[in-house]
Amino acid sequence: MIIYLKQLFNIIGEFKSIDYKIMPDELSGTGLSFVSPVHVKGEICNRAGIVSLSFSVDFKLHIICDRCLKELDRDYHYNFEHTVVASASRNNDEYIVAEKESIDLNNIAVSDLLLEFPSKILCNDNCKGLCINCGCDLNESECNCLEK
Ligand SMILES: [Zn+2]
Ligand SMILES: [Zn+2]
Repeated sequence: MIIYLKQLFNIIGEFKSIDYKIMPDELSGTGLSFVSPVHVKGEICNRAGIVSLSFSVDFKLHIICDRCLKELDRDYHYNFEHTVVASASRNNDEYIVAEKESIDLNNIAVSDLLLEFPSKILCNDNCKGLCINCGCDLNESECNCLEK
């Protein structure tokens, strides 16, 4: 979704609320298996001349545990906040630059989400994984491999 910010940059106190969904077929480039849309909710506002964007993303993913290979669906919720500037003259990675006084919120939300997403996925933090010898799921059964 493209958001035009001309008014937001010009009027102190101006704000815009955000509440929409990014559909799974728009997310196919992410490498994640979305089983729900990404619900983006928040606001963008001009407080004392500083334009800030804050939003949350909610979504459900089909994931596979890296240790035991169990498949499950999991809900995720992340919050993000950015300062939006009209030009890149202020050289700082923390700012989002609004090219032509607009931002593409889909791009921002998806890249934020991917940065936040853990590189390792576990069904739970205590997952015992699979036995490297016999392949049994050590969360559900015990084997004697380690005793030898
Ligand atoms: Zn697991
Ligand atoms: Zn075993």
